Amino acid sequence: MRARASELGFVRTGVARAQVLTEDFARYEAFIEEEMHGSMGYLAERREARRTVDTEAILPGARSVVVCAIDYRAAPATANGANEKGPQGAVIARYARGQDYHNFVRKKLRRLAEFVRQETGCEARPMLDTAPMLERAWARLAGVGFVGKNGCVIAPGVGSFVLLGSVVTTAELVADEPMESRCGACTLCLDACPTRAFVRPFVLDARRCVSFLTIEHRESIPVSLREGVGDRLFGCDDCQDVCPYNQSKSGHKPASSQFSLGERWASRTVESLLAMDERAFEALTLGSPLGRPGRDGLVRNALTVLANTGTVAHLPAIERLVASETSEVVLDAARWAIERIRERAARGA
Ligand code: SF4
Ligand code: SF4
Repeated sequence: MRARASELGFVRTGVARAQVLTEDFARYEAFIEEEMHGSMGYLAERREARRTVDTEAILPGARSVVVCAIDYRAAPATANGANEKGPQGAVIARYARGQDYHNFVRKKLRRLAEFVRQETGCEARPMLDTAPMLERAWARLAGVGFVGKNGCVIAPGVGSFVLLGSVVTTAELVADEPMESRCGACTLCLDACPTRAFVRPFVLDARRCVSFLTIEHRESIPVSLREGVGDRLFGCDDCQDVCPYNQSKSGHKPASSQFSLGERWASRTVESLLAMDERAFEALTLGSPLGRPGRDGLVRNALTVLANTGTVAHLPAIERLVASETSEVVLDAARWAIERIRERAARGA
């Protein structure tokens, strides 16, 4: 099964015994109780179902969870030295620079589930962001990686830029050893966060995280956090970029060029996003994770980036937008951007 998973492009595969989660579930419950999930209401739904996988929601009679990781650190995308991180003037989180991963990773998991069924005669169900599962807990229990102080699963030798999927099965497979934290005294990720989103090691207040604010949040970004967004158009990788476990290239094996920056982003500037109406947004983000925040959310993000980095040369485009815009979220971000850019210009900065 491991050989088959490797053939399919997974860089790590591990097996956990299906069990009732205790510590990991308690951490999840505390996160929800303290409302750190913000407006991601779906995280608080079907709480009890997340305690184990032997449930109606996942697979009755489940005995093992096979967890697989795919490396999404893309090889440099462009030969001519053009943008690799996002449109000119902005950064997109690594996992989102290319195609939406769901389709092609799901296909790989389906093939692996089929293999498990054939080999064992037991039921097997592929899972990828579809059912209420505490993926990081299962990854840790399956020995795929440990959970770092930044909350990410880190596979030693590969790092944390991995996507996790699993195959839940009624087959009783030989389980791997769980992997406990190997962070030691390091605090690099906690110190690197631009919005101070870590309440303490291992505990992230998603409401302050740039990834939440630029991807999931539908309202205005709180003023006190806007500066921390910096030049990030969609998501944030800072607490992973600084992690020593991500500096090793030895286990680095990108799944495919599907994670390289798409031409649609490389060929434009962040300012050009301001002119997008709903139709242009739909066309631009088709098959891309950047469709997630919606047109208003993405334009809000572009304005926040310009507020933090733009110059007076950007003012005409922002003012044109203000003249025709109807979304309050966009208007709020646009007015703030104008104010910030003018302030900077007045200071000669
Ligand atoms: S993703 Fe960025 S904003 Fe969120 S916790 Fe990590 S460093 Fe902070
Ligand atoms: S940066 Fe340091 S503390 Fe943070 S996850 Fe990596 S090893 Fe752990």
